[in-house]
Amino acid sequence: MPHQKKIALVAHDAKKDLIVDWASANRDALSHHHIYATGTTGGRLMEGAGLAVERLLSGPLGGDAQLGAMIAEERLDALIFFIDPLSALPHDVDVKSLLRLAILYDTPLAINKSSADAVLCALKNDTD
Ligand code: PGA
Repeated sequence: MPHQKKIALVAHDAKKDLIVDWASANRDALSHHHIYATGTTGGRLMEGAGLAVERLLSGPLGGDAQLGAMIAEERLDALIFFIDPLSALPHDVDVKSLLRLAILYDTPLAINKSSADAVLCALKNDTD
């Protein structure tokens, strides 16, 4: 597809229902793009939102690091990362690293539903 963007979707466990609902509501828009997701999020998105997803490793097992590498190599156009603000996560160091790289490389980044709506809208305007 000519204006296809590479978008990564990630959600912490407490936010997985939310990302499935959000992706279902935005399935048409998302289906124009190449979607990457960390392992468990990707499985939920394929099952629950019927989205074609390229699955990476599970976040805590290296999936966040894979996305960080894609950002550093400028192979990702946007990161939608539904972070759980209420739990301490054992792989917090990977989460921080991924966010740091997204900031460093000025990658469009969404960390909740409202900002995900805004990023998707900006990508749509960019591809029209
Ligand atoms: P998961 O990883 O999609 O494999 O659960 C997400 C994360 O916790 O970074």
